[in-house]
Amino acid sequence: MSLIPIKEPICQCCGRPFISEVAAQSIQPTCRLCRAGRYSFSRARSFAVYNSTLVAAITLLKYEEVTRLGDWFAARLADVFAKDAKDLRADVVVSVPLHADRLRERGYNQAELIARPLSRRLGLELGTYLLVRKLPRPPQLLLSRSERWKSVRGAYATRHGVRVDNLRILLVDDVMTTGATLDACAQALKKAGAAEVFGLTVGRVVSGWTSADPPTSFGSAVGSSPKRKKPAGCGQHP
Ligand SMILES: [Zn+2]
Repeated sequence: MSLIPIKEPICQCCGRPFISEVAAQSIQPTCRLCRAGRYSFSRARSFAVYNSTLVAAITLLKYEEVTRLGDWFAARLADVFAKDAKDLRADVVVSVPLHADRLRERGYNQAELIARPLSRRLGLELGTYLLVRKLPRPPQLLLSRSERWKSVRGAYATRHGVRVDNLRILLVDDVMTTGATLDACAQALKKAGAAEVFGLTVGRVVSGWTSADPPTSFGSAVGSSPKRKKPAGCGQHP
């Protein structure tokens, strides 16, 4: 199996691929989660479907600190960024942080191994110090959709004493699963005054897309997540 880059048609807001004919031909440029105002980030984009090839590559980056792989991912993300550059105008690149205990255990943050070379490629400042993970990740490895949303709620905050007022922030992570992590980070940054937050991830989990073929059902890719009142994000963008 090889890497499957994410291509149009996608939700213009969260970047989710539209995988059924019906959805692709829909006049709606955004998915139903974005229309419901699910996310606090303005837009998100990903390089490729999180299939077994990409799982293997990201696992290498995560556990072996293969910095050349981080550079390669950064180059792919720079291409993804370039395609939507006018909608992703950012001032600073921030990687999704690990909790201090996890960072100590691993010695590095795999998202930063991508964000650092990406910031150089885009000519933007690297602001990894701006955001921290206050709450550790729950011990279970496999979380359900609703557990994922719960496990990151309030988990992130801006670092004490830093200012993000009016900054447009490009958040970088290795994988987007439900969008809960990017959403929690975006909430923390916007609460602290950030003007806009964009998400950029190497992999994107697309339900059912485990082989080289796309899944047949669009509904399963959208899934469900707990309903709650959200501050303005994707949903407010036309
Ligand atoms: Zn969407």
